[in-house]
Amino acid sequence: MLKTGVGFINGDFLGASDDATIDVLNPATGEVLAKAPSMGCVETQTAIAAAAAAFPTWSRLVAKERCKIMRRWYDEVMAHQDDICTIMTMESGKPYTESKGEFLSGAASIEWFAEEGRRVTGDVLQPVAPHRRQLIVKQPVGVAAAITPWNFPMSMITRKVSPAIAAGCTVVLKPAEATPLTALALAELARRAGMPDGVFNIVVGDPAAIGKAMLDSDTVRKIGFTGSTAVGKHLMAGAAATVKRVSLELGGNAPYIVFDDADVEAAAAGIVASAFRNAGQTCICANRVLVQDGVYDTFVEAVTERVSKLKLGSGMDPTTTLGPLISDKGVQRVQDHVEDALAKGATATIGGKRPDLPQPYDKGFFFSPTVLANATIDMKVFREETFGPAIPLFRFRTDTEAVQLANDTEYGLAAYFWTQDLARAWRVAEELEYGMVGVNDVAITSEVAPFGGIKQSGLGREQSKYGLDEYLYLKYIQMGNI
Ligand code: ADP
Repeated sequence: MLKTGVGFINGDFLGASDDATIDVLNPATGEVLAKAPSMGCVETQTAIAAAAAAFPTWSRLVAKERCKIMRRWYDEVMAHQDDICTIMTMESGKPYTESKGEFLSGAASIEWFAEEGRRVTGDVLQPVAPHRRQLIVKQPVGVAAAITPWNFPMSMITRKVSPAIAAGCTVVLKPAEATPLTALALAELARRAGMPDGVFNIVVGDPAAIGKAMLDSDTVRKIGFTGSTAVGKHLMAGAAATVKRVSLELGGNAPYIVFDDADVEAAAAGIVASAFRNAGQTCICANRVLVQDGVYDTFVEAVTERVSKLKLGSGMDPTTTLGPLISDKGVQRVQDHVEDALAKGATATIGGKRPDLPQPYDKGFFFSPTVLANATIDMKVFREETFGPAIPLFRFRTDTEAVQLANDTEYGLAAYFWTQDLARAWRVAEELEYGMVGVNDVAITSEVAPFGGIKQSGLGREQSKYGLDEYLYLKYIQMGNI
C-alpha cells in the first residue's frame, strides 16, 4: 500500500517538515483520494543536498551499471502495470485504457534511455598542430530539477528522469500537486530496483516555494519543465540568475488542417482521437480544426457522428471513453470558451454544456464533448488553448490561407494535416511553424522521436537520441606537447 502525505528524499518516504498536507482529489467525483505533503523551501533544499551527495558516485559509475539499474526499474514498473494505471486513473481522471497507453509510453522512455545511456560517446578531432591532440567528452550537467504537470502523471516524469539519470545526473522532481501518487509509486519501484539513495528525489507541495528553492540553488544545474507558458517563462527568467540550463515544453495551440482531398472518415477519426484524448487536456491535442470549403459540411457531420458515440464517465468504468477534466477551474475555462464562441456566432452541433450525471459523478469535473461549427478567428477558441473536450471548426479556401491561419499563433508545438497529395504534403509540412507535424496521422508521440516545440511552445527536445543531450555538456580537452 502506498503511503500518502509523503515525498521521497534520499531513499526515504518523508512528510513535510510541519506535517502539513494538501488534498489529492478524484476528478470523477470531487472526493478526497489521498493526502499529499505540503513541502516547500526547506524540504527542497534537503532533497537538492541529497541529490548533490549522490552525484559523484552515480556519475562515476560506468554507464553499463547505471543502465542495469534503470533496466531493473523498467522491469519493476512493467510488473506493476495495473497498480500504476489504477493510481493514474484515480488521480488524473483519464479512462483506464488511456492510462494503459500512457503507462506503455512512460515505461518505454525508461527502457529507451536505459539503452541510449550506453551510447554516449565523444569525438577525437583532427588536431590543428602535430604536437597537439584535441578531443571532446560528454559529462552529466549535475543535479537536475524536473517539474511536471498533471495531464500525464507518469510519462512526463519518465521522459525527464530517465535521460537525466542515464546521463549520470541526479534528480529532484516536483510532480504536479494534483497527481503526486503516480510519481511516488515510480519512486518506490526505483527503490526496489536498487536505485541508490539520493539519485531520484521527489518533493510535493507549494509550487512557488519549491520552484524558488530550485531556481535559487547554484547546485541545480538544469531544469526540465512541462507545463504552462506562463510558468515556463518564470522558470526561464529565474534560471538566468545562476545560468542554469532549461528545457521547456510549454503550451500549444495545435492546428488540424483537413484539405479537400483528405480521406474525410480517417480525418474525422483522427480529430476525435486527438482532441478528446485525456478529455482534451494534452499539449498536443488538436485545438483549432481548419477545414477546406469543399469538405466542410461533410466533415462536420462525420465528426459530430463520432463524438456522439463518446461515453462520459468514471475512468475506472471500462465502457468510458471520455473522463472528467482535472478540476472545476478546467471546466470553467472550457465553458467560457464555448460560451464565447456561441455568443459570436458558432453553432454547437453536439454538447456545449456541463452534463447531467448521476451521483457521485454529479460532483465530478465533467464537460460534455462539444463540436463548434462556424467558428471564426475572433473567438477565444482560435487564440487560446481550450484544454478541454471542445473542438472549433474553421472554414478556409486556399492552401495559403490554411497555412497562414495555422501559423497565426505565438505557439509552435504540434500541427496536423490531412491530404492525399504528395507535393502538398511536403510543402505544407515545411511551411508549418511547428516542432512536430503529423501528416495523415495523430499518434505522433514515441520514445524514438524528438518531442518539443518552437516559438513560445518551448526549448529543447525530450525523448529520442536528442533527449539525452539535454542532460550532458560537451567538454573539450586539448593535450599539448605530445
Ligand atoms: P497547468 O496549468 O497545466 O497546471 P502549470 O504550469 O501551472 O500548468 O503547472 C505545471 C507544473 O508547474 C506543476 O507541477 C505546477 O505545480 C508547477 N508550477 C506552477 N507554478 C510554479 C512556480 N511558480 N514555480 C515552479 N513550478 C510551478
